[in-house]
Amino acid sequence: MIVVIDGPAGSGKSSTARAVAANLQIQFLDSGALYRVATLLYIDAQQEFTTFFDKLKESEISFYFKNEKFHAFLDGQEVSDEIRSMKVSQHVSEVASNPKVRAYVNDLMREVVKHDAYIADGRDLGTAVFPDADLKFFMVADLETRARRRFKEEKDKGSNVTLEEVKQNIAQRDQTDANRSSDPLRKADDAIEVDTSEMSFDDQVAFISKKVEE
Ligand code: C5P
Repeated sequence: MIVVIDGPAGSGKSSTARAVAANLQIQFLDSGALYRVATLLYIDAQQEFTTFFDKLKESEISFYFKNEKFHAFLDGQEVSDEIRSMKVSQHVSEVASNPKVRAYVNDLMREVVKHDAYIADGRDLGTAVFPDADLKFFMVADLETRARRRFKEEKDKGSNVTLEEVKQNIAQRDQTDANRSSDPLRKADDAIEVDTSEMSFDDQVAFISKKVEE
């Protein structure tokens, strides 16, 4: 079984999908985290695409989900915290807009879901990666709400980023994600739209869990 939640940054997809996965005892796949791991290599290669892509093909990206946390590894080393840095957030949409990188990440995802039941979150899962998913959701929320959520996460981590910087980063990523030529951020025709602007987190989790169980 594969359930997908797509939507823009900060719409609540990832935290909701994690809680639903824990509730229903299924696996969780954070596709954005995989693009973020690839972005570490891009930064390392000083943003030189050919060097980066050669490194990506030689590297091993792995992950697992435990106790509601998605753990990501690059060549066996855990990078779960590192991939959430603002520097990675600033470059990830650029990396993810490359069709070769998308094909690489998509192959990785299609392979793992063969072995277990998954709920996955991303931008194009319902349209491009898993068009035959068992159930599709598209989460949205207004920019202000999304920026405040991400800002709170940053503060909780001890980051000194400002609300305005977070808002700009989210708006910029939405723009790049929605306008790229290769698999842009888009709602699948058969996805259920969930506007989380006025919804509590528990309501989001309950709504999605119920639909999955139906
Ligand atoms: O979900 P998260 O915000 O961590 O994703 C980081 C970035 O990865 C997004 O801004 C987007 O550029 C890219 N992404 C994507 N397709 C996906 C998931 C994420 O292009 N399925």
